[in-house]
Amino acid sequence: MAYFPDLSPYTYEPSERHMVNVGWLSGRHRYPKGLVADVVVNALKVLCARPENQMRGYHQCEFCRALAPSVLGGDSGTNEVFLGSAEVHVEGAEGVVYAAPTLVLHYILEHQYCPPRKFCEAAVRQAGLGAGDELTVLE
Ligand SMILES: [Zn+2]
Repeated sequence: MAYFPDLSPYTYEPSERHMVNVGWLSGRHRYPKGLVADVVVNALKVLCARPENQMRGYHQCEFCRALAPSVLGGDSGTNEVFLGSAEVHVEGAEGVVYAAPTLVLHYILEHQYCPPRKFCEAAVRQAGLGAGDELTVLE
């Protein structure tokens, strides 16, 4: 999968909106690690069940070689959601849109990836799980 640094301009697909990258990790680059609040994980489980830019194939995780890892998610929390073939687009407070591969959820759960705080807050808000303001991301 293509590597993009967090918060770099999103250029994967042309878009009218101001979009930035989050979670496009690569085995050849270091990435921030930390504990991510459960509410953020739950928000991404909802958002990954209704992804954007669906692709035909699946990207393999470069860290553990998992192909199409799945989580239980969706609005009910009981749908099997396969990760690695689409993106989630999350609108932030200042009109910026964060574009992340759905694998971002796998990176958080299995590889201790800690996304930018503003992305976490926006995901919680967009999933309807709260304002996201009181979110604490533990380093
Ligand atoms: Zn992995």
